Amino acid sequence: MRCRQLALDRQALAWYIQGEERNVKAIYEPKGAAREYSPLACNLYSGCTHGCLYCYVPAVLYRTPADFHREAKPRDGILKALDKDARRLADSSDPVLFCFTCDPYPAGGSETTREALCIMAACNIPVQVLTKAGTRAERDFDLLAGMRAQFGTTLLFTDEADRQQWEPNAATVGNRIAAIREAHAAGISTWLSIEPIIDPEQALALIGLLSDVVDEWRIGKLNHHPLAKQINWHYWAPKFLEAAKASRRTYMLKDSMRRYLTPEQWAESRQALTVAPPRGISQV
Ligand code: SF4
Repeated sequence: MRCRQLALDRQALAWYIQGEERNVKAIYEPKGAAREYSPLACNLYSGCTHGCLYCYVPAVLYRTPADFHREAKPRDGILKALDKDARRLADSSDPVLFCFTCDPYPAGGSETTREALCIMAACNIPVQVLTKAGTRAERDFDLLAGMRAQFGTTLLFTDEADRQQWEPNAATVGNRIAAIREAHAAGISTWLSIEPIIDPEQALALIGLLSDVVDEWRIGKLNHHPLAKQINWHYWAPKFLEAAKASRRTYMLKDSMRRYLTPEQWAESRQALTVAPPRGISQV
């Protein structure tokens, strides 16, 4: 099973790898589990220093974790390639996610991200930002507030010690919460990626804690890790569905949760996406 899931992840990043080699493809169509988040995506940087223990990217890119987590630098020629792709997709209704295989706000500098957002705004293409860099992203809220955009952060824990253990170089829990609150206050549509769930109690608590500032939840289980087998997903998956429904926000439980829900629950787990799309997407 693990090999099959890894194969799917490799397939999901095939476009990315091709883009690295040809150095021409910036916007690509994710496959597999990544596609559930966004129909299109763009990876602006090579490498990521957050050092998450659950990071699957080095494996799919055939890099060692030490090499991948050592530094993040803009991909060669990425802005030129993005400009070319964006012109081709101008006025598209499909959002482009920044980024799957890196963080759009690396510690070493993120001017590339701001320039990329300017390109997307000029071409009127909706963007979904996904970051664990917290308030570092606030620099670009002026841009995001004026374009078709959603600001998203991954958050898995309420306990800062657990965050420190699993995501050693990412922003703190409090800093990420501050960023999402600031985005909401700036009128930007917000989303929270609660994936991969590592401590179900803490992850579930986030829904109650942040439902006043989060417009959409995206929820997925832990995979490719021994701890995943120790969690009773049959117990927890329905609890996440109920909490998401009770929050009266848009929500999506990922396909990895399907086998732990009844067919009726599964039908509900994504229904809200078509009933109540988030602010940014509903304008598309
Ligand atoms: S933020 Fe994403 S790419 Fe970066 S280390 Fe964590 S899981 Fe890997």
